[in-house]
Amino acid sequence: MDEKEKEMEELKIECLNFCKKHSLYQKGTYPVFGEGSLKARIMFIGEAPGYYESVSGRPFYGAAGKVLDELLNSIEIKRKEVYITNIVKLRPPNNREPKPEEIRDFAPYLERQIEIIKPGVICTLGNYSTGFIFEKYELQNQIQGISKIRGKIFKVESLSQNIKIIPLYHPAVAVYNPKMKEILKKDFKVLEKLK
Ligand code: URA
Repeated sequence: MDEKEKEMEELKIECLNFCKKHSLYQKGTYPVFGEGSLKARIMFIGEAPGYYESVSGRPFYGAAGKVLDELLNSIEIKRKEVYITNIVKLRPPNNREPKPEEIRDFAPYLERQIEIIKPGVICTLGNYSTGFIFEKYELQNQIQGISKIRGKIFKVESLSQNIKIIPLYHPAVAVYNPKMKEILKKDFKVLEKLK
C-alpha cells in the first residue's frame, strides 16, 4: 500500500465510524465513501447516495449511475480512471435533498479526499456540490443557476495547485429525459481535452 492508499484507507475507516453515529445512518445499509483511482486527474462530486448506492456501498450505482457511465463512455473515460464521491456519505430518507447541516457534517471528509487525490479537474454534479465547491474555492461571486454555468471551466489555485472546476448537471436529470442526456453529453465533451 502506498502513502496515498494508506491515508485514504484511514480516512475511510474514520468516516465509516462517524457515519455509524450519524442521524442519517440506517442499520442494514452502507455509507458510501467514494471510489476510483487515487491518481485520478478528474474527480466527480455528486450529492448523496440513493437506494442502490446505500445497499451496495458504491457511488452512482443506480439509474443516475447508469447515465454517468454512459456519459463517461461517450468520451472514452473509464470509471476506474476517475474518482467518484458525494458530499453526503449517507442516504437521506426518501432521497430528500441534503440539509445544510448534513453537508457541513460530511464536508471535512470530502475536503480530505480532495487533499489526498489532488485532482486537476473537479466536476460538480448538480446544485449542491456546485454550491459547496464554489464556496470552498471562493468562487461565490461567479455562481449562477447551474443552467448558466454548466460545462464552463473555472480556474482556481489552491495549495499551490491549479484546479479546474467544471459544474455539470446532475446525471439524474437525464434518467427519463433523452434531451437532457444529449445536453449532458455535449457538456461532458469539455473533459475530452482534460483527461
Ligand atoms: N445521486 C448522487 O448524487 N450520488 C449518488 O451516488 C447517486 C445518486
